[in-house]
Amino acid sequence: MDVYGLIGNPVDHSLSPPMHEAGYERLGVDARYVTFEPPKGEGAAAVESATRLGVAGLNVTIPFKQDVLAAVEPDALATRIGAVNTVDFSTDPPTGYNTDATGLVRAFEHHDVSPAGQAVVVGAGGAGRAATVGLATEGMTVAVANRTVDKAESLAATLRTSQADGPMDVQGYGLDMLADLVPDADVLVNATSVGMEEDRSPVPPGALHGDLTVLDAVYTPLETRLLRDARDAGARTIDGAWMLLYQGVEAFERWTGQDAPVGAMNEALRTRL
Ligand code: NAP
Repeated sequence: MDVYGLIGNPVDHSLSPPMHEAGYERLGVDARYVTFEPPKGEGAAAVESATRLGVAGLNVTIPFKQDVLAAVEPDALATRIGAVNTVDFSTDPPTGYNTDATGLVRAFEHHDVSPAGQAVVVGAGGAGRAATVGLATEGMTVAVANRTVDKAESLAATLRTSQADGPMDVQGYGLDMLADLVPDADVLVNATSVGMEEDRSPVPPGALHGDLTVLDAVYTPLETRLLRDARDAGARTIDGAWMLLYQGVEAFERWTGQDAPVGAMNEALRTRL
């Protein structure tokens, strides 16, 4: 039996175990998915221990996504984002991936939205970095807007000057620029925690429009204020569970080498949300 899992702190309410185990069950894969809660600061040590214990794959969540870089060989995308959320132990050293970025792109593709044109990403934390790099890698022009403007500007400057795989077309802004940026955008991603367990949106509703596709990374609640405002403006909407699903699907496929049973994993996720 293969053991997969998640390290995070806290991990009590993670939806990854039922989502992945639904996938194993559907495909007849002999595996279990368990959660581990190492002390803060022990992410790299946890990955090293998992290597010795014969764990086959790990997902990584807050606060360990940067720490584990010290214990893995990150691929080009994870290196650019500066964070790893999936570790594959079939290589030596283990390989680190960032499926938040590729999962976000697959969530758009699932809804027949090709990531092309101009994107606005709100937030420059972990999810914002993944979204910005993921969409810029697809060739989109990305405006990243953050409450702490310096973080958006330095992310954009790093990506514009990066030599690896060529410079990306990314600019950094404060949130006050959203009213100007969103009317010209094709795609909008909320990658802040605004809207989580609260009825607030980080985007002025008057900037939303009918040619826009809006993905909110927040998935508690599934129907956020931003998504309601977007629907009222005639925009297409994608809830945060799609990003969560596809980051898991990408990890599942990297680990097992098989196409993930997306429908079964999605059902397991949504029945628990
Ligand atoms: P993080 O690294 O802590 O970043 C938090 C972000 O939210 C920062 O940009 C922060 O701005 C911004 N923010 C926080 N409070 C704010 C406020 N009151 N007003 C404006 N901006 C505010 O967290 P993260 O890992 O990126 O996660 C962000 C959200 O994405 C969370 O809701 C998380 O659940 C969600 N997420 C979803 C998925 C998925 O698969 N659906 C995956 C990853 C994350 P400052 O830099 O100014 O503090």
